[in-house]
Amino acid sequence: PVSRFASESAGLSGLREWQRALRAQFPIVTANPGIAYLDNAATAQKPQSVLDAVIAYLTSENANAGRGTYPWANRTTARVERARDRLREFLGDPDPDRSGVHFVSGTTEGLRAVARDWLAPQLRDGDEIVVPYADHSANIEPWREAAALARARGDHVTLLAMPYDAAHDYDAARLADLVTPRTRMIAATHVHHVYGNDMHVARLRAAAGPAVPICLDAAQSIGHLAVSVAELDVDFLVFSGHKALALPGTGAIWSRDRRGPSFAPGGWHGTPNTSGIVSLTAALDWLEAAGVDRIARWTRDLAARLTAGLSELDAYEVLGCQASLAADSVVQRRQGIVTFRHREIGSNDLGFILATDGFLVRADGHCQGDQGEKTSSVRVSLHVHNTEREVERLLTRLAELNSG
Ligand code: PLP
Repeated sequence: PVSRFASESAGLSGLREWQRALRAQFPIVTANPGIAYLDNAATAQKPQSVLDAVIAYLTSENANAGRGTYPWANRTTARVERARDRLREFLGDPDPDRSGVHFVSGTTEGLRAVARDWLAPQLRDGDEIVVPYADHSANIEPWREAAALARARGDHVTLLAMPYDAAHDYDAARLADLVTPRTRMIAATHVHHVYGNDMHVARLRAAAGPAVPICLDAAQSIGHLAVSVAELDVDFLVFSGHKALALPGTGAIWSRDRRGPSFAPGGWHGTPNTSGIVSLTAALDWLEAAGVDRIARWTRDLAARLTAGLSELDAYEVLGCQASLAADSVVQRRQGIVTFRHREIGSNDLGFILATDGFLVRADGHCQGDQGEKTSSVRVSLHVHNTEREVERLLTRLAELNSG
């Protein structure tokens, strides 16, 4: 019954050659034909051009940045500055002269820097922060920490729960009721790391009004769908480079305004991750050349097929697919992440079984916050190197396990 979905993939047919050429550029993928890497939301594999850029840099002019006066040092400093401009461009920054780009090790460090170093010193008694308690804990704990820092000074700050609707989207109408003149930050996520849905963040600005800062966790959207800070109208955007095809230990905070309270006072402090930053520029170049919109179409269609295939297998429950929603609306909103449970086989066991067969998936609670799922699940997260055949093979294996 499963292979039927192969013929339903009209959306993919125009992209197959394009995808084959891109898949061939991931050396870890081509070197491991028996492995289907399906954990791209945790960290992504790297295309050859990213690896080449790092080797070229480290074997030609590796030096420290922001200090030193010899040519390698100057060129390294210029590479870091170019990387900031490249990122601004990639994010559709409407005002690059005003915005700031601060490199960090990933989303966790970036959100923490915004909360602790930018927000916390400004908080006063009676202020409020809206926190998305069903999102990744990396986007919850920093706001708790900011409130705790304020409390230690004697300023009581209230954390308000971001409202969600039945489709795991933010409920913009209820958010509008929640916002007061004391709201100092709204923390949000662009694409949910468990349900895979686009959270329709562009609607938040109207609900929040013009004055309230919005900080966006874009860990699961950069490289997966077109991201425009102008359209999203957020004040901070934080992401992990390693999930966007760059090296581990990379990431950035984009801020609408580099002035004002800062998490990097005075410009250069400490040695930046220069080779990681070089890899990030190469990754953004690669993503743009590949076409982020096409990557989105490819991974969305694979995810739709996996979702449809799982819905035919009664042992599985796909998270985020409530009976109350029309199936096609769920599929449209889902990006390349599908999370599910088997009704009898525990998720850790299922993850182990799948790994034995070469399917590398994530099986646990996915670091979801207090309002998240209470039991663990298996997450399949896709990128452009994944294929229809991998999804078919996975569905075939899951169908074999359907009866427990
Ligand atoms: N936010 C979301 C939505 C994520 O999916 C992740 C990664 O798992 C993070 C934050 C944390 O990212 P990192 O581990 O790169 O700091």
